[in-house]
This record gives sequence, structure tokens and C-alpha cells, in this order.
Amino acid sequence: MFDLNNLVRANIQKLVPYSSARDEFSGEAKVFLDANENSLGSPLSKWYNRYPDPHQHKVKDAISTVKGIAPEHIFLGNGSDECIDLLYRCFCNPSTDNVVICPPTYGMYEVSANINDIEVRKALLTEDFQLDLVHLENLIDEKTKLVWICSPNNPTGNSLNRNDIEMLLNNFDGLVVVDEAYINFSKQKSFIQELAEYPNLVVMQTFSKAWGLAALRLGMAFASTEIINILNKVKPPYNINQATQELALKALEEVGQVNDMIHLLVDMRNALSEVFEQMPTVEKVYPSDANFILVKIQNARKVYAFLLTKGIVVRDRSNVKLCDDCLRITIGTEEENTALVDAIQDWLLKQDK
Ligand SMILES: *Cc1c(COP(=O)(O)O)cnc(C)c1O
Repeated sequence: MFDLNNLVRANIQKLVPYSSARDEFSGEAKVFLDANENSLGSPLSKWYNRYPDPHQHKVKDAISTVKGIAPEHIFLGNGSDECIDLLYRCFCNPSTDNVVICPPTYGMYEVSANINDIEVRKALLTEDFQLDLVHLENLIDEKTKLVWICSPNNPTGNSLNRNDIEMLLNNFDGLVVVDEAYINFSKQKSFIQELAEYPNLVVMQTFSKAWGLAALRLGMAFASTEIINILNKVKPPYNINQATQELALKALEEVGQVNDMIHLLVDMRNALSEVFEQMPTVEKVYPSDANFILVKIQNARKVYAFLLTKGIVVRDRSNVKLCDDCLRITIGTEEENTALVDAIQDWLLKQDK
């Protein structure tokens, strides 16, 4: 049986969080002499002399409207990276607990585990990049606190079978974190509407991909209010800065523009996949539900180096298990995609000589 109290680290359970000046006051006031800010102002035009809202109420309300999720189920981090780190620090005891990841997958789950001294167990995906549930369940023991699921998965680009994820949610007493960084490019349904059904579900999304705001560093975690409250207790009080909050609010008014970009990127992804499929020496273009494609091409490492000489940088994944000779290629603008295809044609001509 899932019991969140068994999962939270004892020190976090007992933690009395920092209470900021802005936490203790929430009414109408004209004179703010409570936070040792510079009352004279700042070199910038806005009110950047004031600490930002530690709970990001306005941003969460706007996200709530766009996503159809109540604000108390939303946590905001300084990128998904901060959400990942906080999940370790809230739920995993260093040098005692373990987590399971399913490679090939996003590198930060393991790096962040290493930083926090948490053991990482690996249930390699199957040949068709799906969960190996039997292997996965064999790795789980009473010290397993989290299972990381990335869907659509990076670097493979595919979505994981929903039934498999549901199976895990139903049978695992720890937290199942479903990282949906690329969900906007997918035909699959998000897990975000399933929070009421699964108390052990955490869904992560980000402003870095479909929203086009990687520079703002804004990641989202959606979960039960109990889980969200624990994350809030541990986060740095002002983890989302004022500029990011203001700009995210503006962006959230432009959902239509974002949807247009998503459609365009998906069309270009499908077109680029077809072009690659026709190319000699390309052995496989993996089906993608994301804004990138994974391409298996002969001599991937050399293709990578050749592209660099043309000023084009893609992601070399050829050393990654199950990704031999694979390059991960982000969908660019029309011009960038054309430049890429032209460069690879040049490479192929060179091979013929
Ligand atoms: C890009 C990416 C993210 C986003 O991380 P941010 O810190 O929010 O920029 C998260 N998860 C995966 C799998 C990604 O590929």
C-alpha cells in the first residue's frame, strides 16, 4: 500500500521550513520595511528591488487555466533540473535508498542521483525502446523510492506504452515520476489528468521545449497536494525569480502562438524523417513523438565530426547503449533543416569517391 509518510525522509518530515518576510505578510500595505531590500529602487525600471512571490501565485493560476489543473497541484522549479534534485532530497536517503531509471534516457536522473549519493539501478529498455517491466520489477526492493519514466523518451523520441506505466503506478509503492518534457509534440495523452487516481504519480513538464523558453529556467511538477507541499518545504524560498515569473505570465497569454509552433515543428519533424529514410547509409529513423529524431546512420561518429566542420552540431549518441551509430537531431527552422540535409548529401558524395 502506498503511504507517503513512509516515503518522505525523516529529516524532511520534521523540517520546519524557512519563513520568508513575504510568507509572513499577505495583506495590503504601502510601506515594506520587512525584508532589507533597497527601498530606493534599482538600476532597472521595474520593481526588481523587491523579492518575488515565493509561491508564484499568478504564474500558477495561469498554468492552472492552460492545463486544467488546480494550482495546489502545481510546483515550479528552476528548470526541471531543480524538480529532479528536490525529488531526491525529499524522498531519498543518501547512501541508503535507490531509484530505478530506464536507459537509454535523460542523463540528469543519474547525475542528480550521484550528486545526492543515491544508488541508481538500470532497467534497460527493450529493443523497441519500451519498458522491460519484468526486469524493472526485479530491481525494485524496499529501499527503492522512485522510478523515473521519460515519455516521450529522450534520446529515443518514442512514447512509452501507457499500459506499462499504469501497471507500474498500480504496483509500485514508491513514486513514479513521468517526465513529459516533450508531451506537446506527442499524439499520446498526458498523465497530468490522472493525479486523483494515482497518489504516487509525479508528472514533470517544462517551459524549455514546446514553449520555447529554455533560457527562463522554468520547470513544472504536478502531483498530489501532499507531495507538492513537501517540495515547497524544501525548495529555496525564491527559486523562481521575478523576471522569469513576469515573462512566463506573458508567454502563457500566447497559447495559440505556441500551438502554431508545435504544429509546424511536428510537420517538419515528419518531413525530415521521410527525407532521412530515403538516404543511403541511413539504417533507421526511429519514430518520434518529440521535437527531435533519432537516426541510425553508418559511421555516425564520422558524420557527426563532418557536420561540425560545416558548423552544424547535432547530438552524438553513438556511445549510448541501444543507440549504436545513432545521432539525435533537433528539428530546426526550415533553413536549418535544409542546411543539415545538404551537408549530409555532401558527406554521402564524399563517401562515393
Ligand atoms: C530538455 C529536457 C528537460 C527540461 O529540463 P529543464 O531543466 O526544464 O530545461 C527535462 N526532461 C527531459 C527528458 C528533457 O529532455
